[in-house]
Amino acid sequence: MNKTSYPFLDLGTVNRPYAAAIEEAAMRVIASGRYVGGPECDAFERELAAATGTDFCVGVSNGLDAIKLIFKAYIAMGRLHKGDAVLVPANTYIASVLAITDAGLVPVFAESHPRTMNLDTARLEEFYTPAVKAILTVHLYGRPAYDAALRDFAESRGLLVVEDNAQAIGADAPVPGINGSTRTGSLGHAAAFSFYPTKNIGALGDAGAVTTSDAELASTVRALANYGSDRRYHNIYEGYNCRLDPIQAAVLRAKLPHLDAECARRRALAAVYEREIKHPDIIKPVVDSPDRSVWHQYVIQVPGRDSFRAWLESQGVGTDIHYAVPPHLQPCYSRYAGTPLPVTCMLADTVLSLPVSACTSEADAEAIADIINRYRK
Ligand SMILES: *Cc1c(COP(=O)(O)O)cnc(C)c1O
Repeated sequence: MNKTSYPFLDLGTVNRPYAAAIEEAAMRVIASGRYVGGPECDAFERELAAATGTDFCVGVSNGLDAIKLIFKAYIAMGRLHKGDAVLVPANTYIASVLAITDAGLVPVFAESHPRTMNLDTARLEEFYTPAVKAILTVHLYGRPAYDAALRDFAESRGLLVVEDNAQAIGADAPVPGINGSTRTGSLGHAAAFSFYPTKNIGALGDAGAVTTSDAELASTVRALANYGSDRRYHNIYEGYNCRLDPIQAAVLRAKLPHLDAECARRRALAAVYEREIKHPDIIKPVVDSPDRSVWHQYVIQVPGRDSFRAWLESQGVGTDIHYAVPPHLQPCYSRYAGTPLPVTCMLADTVLSLPVSACTSEADAEAIADIINRYRK
């Protein structure tokens, strides 16, 4: 018998298989007496660096702080200066842009490709100005936004490449990055991770990380995240408190070994949707061969999205929208509201995210596809 309800995401269900390991991890921290920093944070940093293929990892408080700290560190190092511009996809979560403006840098919004919904790497030149000193590429929806065009564009202009890898832990780009590996988080000069509970590997609260193979950047980020201090009671920067909580580090250590299985499960669900959704009005996301996305979201495009969504809701299918209002149209960024970004605005009006988490089985995805195929306007 078919189920009657297909929730978009339920974090209790996501974490249930890990409950015993999470409990043990938290108890280890409680017993250790080390509640800031310490061996769980050190071990997590080593394990994430190894999983990413970078020399260094610095655990931090959340994904937004991870991106902020990267930009602030480059400014502290003299590699970027306040007022420099950063190319960023206009179709992204607002945190990408908040990090740029918080550091005193200027976002230059670039269009996304209408089908990949990620940075259109063939159009970078159109948005480039001589003030641009860095690219913040965002692997949105789990799809690597890095290719030979982006790599060559950045290299020929001497731009720093920073990855917003909040949604794409475990994904692989079609070409190797500057460190010789294809893994997202190792492609550019530095990368930011988020372990917000809804991400593919989620903590039980806020958590994030910075990865890099640049020793100076790693030590600058670490100092900035710890009051600007390079050793105890010695402050070289006017820093912050943006440290990773060791309980979250221990929780993440319980989940990180299952990263490959998590990616495979999401790819299997995406493959079911790709095979089974046949409605002529629905544009499905591009699937590469081999599939390199880790499907943080499975995002279809539907004209008349809002009535389609309401209908799915009436059939018990939970959905979400990532994102209905792009950053440059948010009230806090009214100064960018006039930027012409037709592709981004089209996406904001048509994108719809289908369930793709551990709450959804392949049979559920088949049933959801059936429901979608039955839609009539
Ligand atoms: C979640 C997310 C962030 C921010 O991470 P937090 O841990 O929530 O601060 C940044 N960028 C993108 C693309 C995200 O999805």
